[in-house]
Amino acid sequence: MANSSQRPDRPSFAIINGETIPFEDAKISIMAPGLTFAVTVFEGLRGYWRRDKNQLYVFRMEDHLKRQEFSMKLIELDDPPSAEDTAKHIIDVLRANKMREDCYIRTQAYVDDWGDMIATGPVSSSVICRARARVDAFQTGKDFVVVSWRRNADDASPPRIKVSANYLNSRLAGLEAKRSDASAIILNRDGTVSEGPGGCLFLCRDGKLITPTINDGILESITRDTLLTLAADVGVEVQERRIGRTELHLATEGFYCGTGQEMTPINSIDGKPLGDGKPGPITRMLQAAYDDLVRGRNEKYLHWLTPALPAKAGEG
Ligand code: PMP
Repeated sequence: MANSSQRPDRPSFAIINGETIPFEDAKISIMAPGLTFAVTVFEGLRGYWRRDKNQLYVFRMEDHLKRQEFSMKLIELDDPPSAEDTAKHIIDVLRANKMREDCYIRTQAYVDDWGDMIATGPVSSSVICRARARVDAFQTGKDFVVVSWRRNADDASPPRIKVSANYLNSRLAGLEAKRSDASAIILNRDGTVSEGPGGCLFLCRDGKLITPTINDGILESITRDTLLTLAADVGVEVQERRIGRTELHLATEGFYCGTGQEMTPINSIDGKPLGDGKPGPITRMLQAAYDDLVRGRNEKYLHWLTPALPAKAGEG
């Protein structure tokens, strides 16, 4: 098992409670409720490097921080880190690590040190970044299977918030799918489609896209929202509605989306190919539009890109 010191993407610095410290010193107490009871909220963001601008852009930072604020509010954390402070820490960690390539950023806020499962403080925060190139599956697509684990319910462990405790459900689903060398599709208790362990689903039927609603056991995904916006721009109709299990097999193409994987085409579901089993034309068109958007080639959405490096580095 590789430890973090052997990883090529290991950063030099992390930020804990606003302080920049060597990555190897960024530790959590074994008594922290954030660890034992998963009383931790987090966000995963991407930074996109633009060589032509000599600049790194954080994608939809404000929206991620807004979602983190809601997650913290729901699980009741004392003095949670403000969005302004977390934004500053994101910029600080990228600069401290001299990040000059596509990367992933993780913010966390958790109940630290000694406490029980309803402790609301003391709250600590962390921010890290690491190099992360686009995943190969963006091009090749992946096979998916419907797993036997059901999505946790909104009135049990709400998928709408990005709290670590929810990732047990994702993990069980992901492990089951991995045994078939595939990625997971999770159904709700009523048998309708929710999402995957770490991303949302879109399917194409009769030239239109369909995707589960935000009340179908999903995280309110920022990538999903971006793709709804882009689909409207390019004139592809999207229906947000409940999706029955058998509709998965009526789809002629589809994709899985989230910050980390961006857009992964779905090649097959439960061994049945979607269309000809290769990424479809609507998927490819939206992938191109997504790439244009995150890399600042779509003027309309430049406000979603926050430059992270000092203006000096941004010149030329
Ligand atoms: N659903 C789950 C369960 C996730 O973990 C993620 C990744 N954050 C997503 C959906 C996609 O969300 P986003 O597009 O905001 O990254």
